[in-house]
Amino acid sequence: MLRLDLENMIREGKHVEWLMNEGVLKRDVVCDICGDNMKLHNQNSSADGKVFGCGKLRCGRARKSVREGSFFWGYKQPLEKLIRFVYEWAEETKQKKICRELGICKKTAVSLSDRLRHIVYSHVQVVNSSNFIGGEGKVVEIDETVVARRKYNVGRRVKEQWLFGGIVRGTLGGPIECFAELVNDRTAKTLEEVVKARVHPDSFICKDGWRGYVRLGDLFKVGTVNHSKNFVNPEDRNVHTQSIESMWNQLKTFLREHKAFKREKLELYINEFIFRKSCVEVFNNLIQLLK
Ligand SMILES: [Zn+2]
Repeated sequence: MLRLDLENMIREGKHVEWLMNEGVLKRDVVCDICGDNMKLHNQNSSADGKVFGCGKLRCGRARKSVREGSFFWGYKQPLEKLIRFVYEWAEETKQKKICRELGICKKTAVSLSDRLRHIVYSHVQVVNSSNFIGGEGKVVEIDETVVARRKYNVGRRVKEQWLFGGIVRGTLGGPIECFAELVNDRTAKTLEEVVKARVHPDSFICKDGWRGYVRLGDLFKVGTVNHSKNFVNPEDRNVHTQSIESMWNQLKTFLREHKAFKREKLELYINEFIFRKSCVEVFNNLIQLLK
């Protein structure tokens, strides 16, 4: 959706109806007293312009907010501001700018951002646990990279945090088909487990010469590039890992922008990156997650 379309919708007062159509707001609401369905009324004095009501006198003409039980429940701001916030979050508008332009305080912005990020995180976790990437005729590039180095005071030991991932070649421009997981180490056992769980067995895998991949050839069709000598396999120019390396660059830029290299933030932001890259349109996809 374009920002202009969103603004038109809000100006025409159609945003509540739209959120109901999308399933973000409930359409069927029952009266707590009599249990009958409540009717949607226009009520200009209410924050959202519409309110659910029970017409019965014995229910005291009970009223319910249209946002009860929804993502927007509990916020004081008008619904149109909250929708605009979700839109700008999807567009990666800087938080400071959103607060200034929408007149939302930092505390509310942080609360909304955090909740959106956690919703996205859980969604990506579910996709991760149920979907393979790749398949027959598809090339999956895999690679591991260090995303953080943690210092330990004891003996000044430095522990590297490895990230392991794969991407279906040709999808980097979006919607991306990829996975990225934090792993404790990059031993053959660890990496094989992840590849088996995440990459469709009929895929063709491109990888570098890291010894952690030594047994993958038994399970997959595999091509190898030797990074110490060249970035493209001289015998087969299709064997390279340029897509996954570009993805790592983009992901690391994203993590830097969000200062997200701390372990507790890493997974959250890695999933956010994957979600954003896997969407055709982030706002529309995000709205689907708010149901
Ligand atoms: Zn009632």
